Amino acid sequence: MARIAFIGLGNMGGGMAANLAKHGHDVRAFDLSADALAAAEKAGCLPVASARDAAEGAEAIVTMLPAGTHVESVYADVFAAAAPAAVMIDCSTIDVATARRVAEAAAARGLVAVDAPVSGGIAAAQAGTLTFMVGGSAEAFGRAEPVLAAMGKAVIHAGANGAGQAAKVCNNMLLGATMIATCEAFVLAQRLGLDPQTFYDIASVSSGQSWSMTSYAPLPGVGPDSPADRDYQGGFAAALMLKDLRLAMAAAADTGADTPMGARAAERYEAFAAAGQGGLDFSAIIRTLAPREPGSPE
Ligand code: NAD
Repeated sequence: MARIAFIGLGNMGGGMAANLAKHGHDVRAFDLSADALAAAEKAGCLPVASARDAAEGAEAIVTMLPAGTHVESVYADVFAAAAPAAVMIDCSTIDVATARRVAEAAAARGLVAVDAPVSGGIAAAQAGTLTFMVGGSAEAFGRAEPVLAAMGKAVIHAGANGAGQAAKVCNNMLLGATMIATCEAFVLAQRLGLDPQTFYDIASVSSGQSWSMTSYAPLPGVGPDSPADRDYQGGFAAALMLKDLRLAMAAAADTGADTPMGARAAERYEAFAAAGQGGLDFSAIIRTLAPREPGSPE
């Protein structure tokens, strides 16, 4: 059992902190929201008054915050309280440059930090089945790994600091583009008179297969249960996909990488969010392609 600081108890962090407590860790939890703190207390964490209080005496400091600016400001505060043996673990999805800056600032104080963004949504955070992609030294990874293992099903060392965020941004750019491509294929299949379930049965065992197709089919009643079956409520919000695509586009611009499909996906999700649809699951992007719902008249 370790003493662990957990800062950022929102949709994701709330479930993650609860899993650490379930594993018997002594979790000192902080969030700006009183409701989030109350929920963490119910889940077995000890609510504290500040990020600094949470970090005091902790062996690991975990953050799950909205964006890079929050991460940078919280760590600026936390560094002063962190014990030299503590490992800082930022699980938020942020830009690679900020992740590296935070790690350098930690190193300048003799502290170690990893970036450890996640794949898997709110349900995986609650179930403790997240995938963590971790950037940092081998030593830092070794210290972070047992903490992350209590919250996930896979913990993968991606490379040096920033490599976890790099993997996340590339994965989600791929996901955004394959989701739109999967939606297009379903729409065209219907226009050609194919039954969507029959097309699913074929494509999910053929070379067009992808996670967007097999595990998350964007049409109601097709494939396994997915947000499409709940009118695109819950799941992974289109606004969060847009956030990740913006990070990917910024990274592509920084590195001179040519990412035309990612850029097109970012444009489509920009327009979708601007039309007020950002709260829907990201597979609802199929609505912009005007499909026929299965069973509806021609
Ligand atoms: P959220 O907005 O629900 O939670 C963020 C929490 O951080 C909030 O409770 C907020 O009060 C708290 N917070 C903000 N600033 C703070 C500060 N200075 N000190 C303490 N607490 C502070 O967001 P979320 O959905 O939990 O996402 C968190 C991160 O995880 C994001 O970076 C997101 O991109 C990433 N992520 C989310 C999902 C998802 O499905 N929601 C999936 C993968 C990754």
